[in-house]
Amino acid sequence: MRIPRLVALLLITLVASATTSEEVDVTCPVCANEFRAEAWMSTNSVGGQDRDFLEHAAGGQVFLFSCWTCPKCCYTGSSTDFDEEEMPKDLIAKLKAKNPLKAAQPIDPKTKHTGEIPSWIRWDLNAQVVALDPEVKPAQLAFAYLRTAQTQRFEWESLGKVADFDARAEKLWNRVKAELPEGNGRDTTVAAARAYEKLAADGGSDLTAADRPLARVLAAQLFKSRGEDLEAARVLDGLKDVKLTPALQGVVKDIRTRIAREKEYIARAIPLLEAHLKTLEPAKAVSIHYLAGVCLRKVGENEKSLAHLQPLLENKEIPPGFREWIAEEAAKAKGS
Ligand SMILES: [Zn+2]
Repeated sequence: MRIPRLVALLLITLVASATTSEEVDVTCPVCANEFRAEAWMSTNSVGGQDRDFLEHAAGGQVFLFSCWTCPKCCYTGSSTDFDEEEMPKDLIAKLKAKNPLKAAQPIDPKTKHTGEIPSWIRWDLNAQVVALDPEVKPAQLAFAYLRTAQTQRFEWESLGKVADFDARAEKLWNRVKAELPEGNGRDTTVAAARAYEKLAADGGSDLTAADRPLARVLAAQLFKSRGEDLEAARVLDGLKDVKLTPALQGVVKDIRTRIAREKEYIARAIPLLEAHLKTLEPAKAVSIHYLAGVCLRKVGENEKSLAHLQPLLENKEIPPGFREWIAEEAAKAKGS
């Protein structure tokens, strides 16, 4: 059975000052194409966890670059899947005979560095590779899809196109930072998103006509960056009648595309999480019930979400911090 090493790797919690990596030359074991990639050396979890357990690192997210795709034949995996000693030889022989891998969007086969391929396309291909294993477990494929979904919270090039972005964003940040909880975690980011929303809605504030919609777009972007997509969509809906500059329109379009894409991959993971639950002892199923509840809420299946979350609230074994998360997710699913 092929172990999804990329997934196993990402579950290891490492503490270091920042994510570091090095460039390496890679030869594809399927088609012999040569390309470059980044190999990770250290990472950290100082950015805290999103409510679906995704950890954020300072200095770059390992999972965005540690999933390598051959630009020519689409073979995809972690560094070990390209390592002569450790690569899955049966799978590679199969792919040499017949390769069904298909990128979600076309990849230029002349691409020199695998990092130039958008991370969601690489992770989507990784899921295709995982699915080729005849003995694949639902949990392995579910996590591969969830990782693909989670790529949509990072790499915000569209913001760089907004005129004078750094200076304007800093000015807005200085207006809200005093009221935020300490730290770099998800709660601070979500509090910042709410503070930007409040600032933009406050008719009495002295924001310029240009900075008011920027504050709202930033609020949506911050919600999106922590996987709070329903909040992000709600903020964007409030901008429907506002005239935006082409650059801000570009950011709004980017956020909407990411929301749709994340939702699509979460929807693919849900039946697999449910199938995985059928194989688990109740005592070991707590985190997967929770995750299924979070995913179902995100795709608008609130009743089904509550069916997973509410029994957990009766469970006295669950530690208080986690119970708070469950209660919060349940409250959101109830629309309160
Ligand atoms: Zn190849």
